[in-house]
Amino acid sequence: MPAQPSPVRIRLSDDKKTLHVSWSDGLDCQYPLSLLRKKCPCATCTTEAKAKGPFYIPLFTADAMALKEINPQGNYAVQFVWHDGHHTGIYDYAYLRGLCPESPETSEA
Ligand SMILES: [Zn+2]
Repeated sequence: MPAQPSPVRIRLSDDKKTLHVSWSDGLDCQYPLSLLRKKCPCATCTTEAKAKGPFYIPLFTADAMALKEINPQGNYAVQFVWHDGHHTGIYDYAYLRGLCPESPETSEA
């Protein structure tokens, strides 16, 4: 099994709406922040999404989709802190990689 790629560079775009992540295996990913927030893996968000069903479309304020801080968690994950105060989402590298719009491994649009 190949080693899990890790981010070597994480940068917010100038308009602060896209997160650019360069991975150790050379893949460059551009994540819309709205996507990252929608896919927040924390218990609160996943429980809410499950309770509302597959057709639930959460509404987020601009603050909820603006990143305040990016905190690396050891060498396996990053924590995103959003402007609305939400900070419980820990995105491990495999999960983050799976969300990459540019990734050939990503099947979900
Ligand atoms: Zn969350």
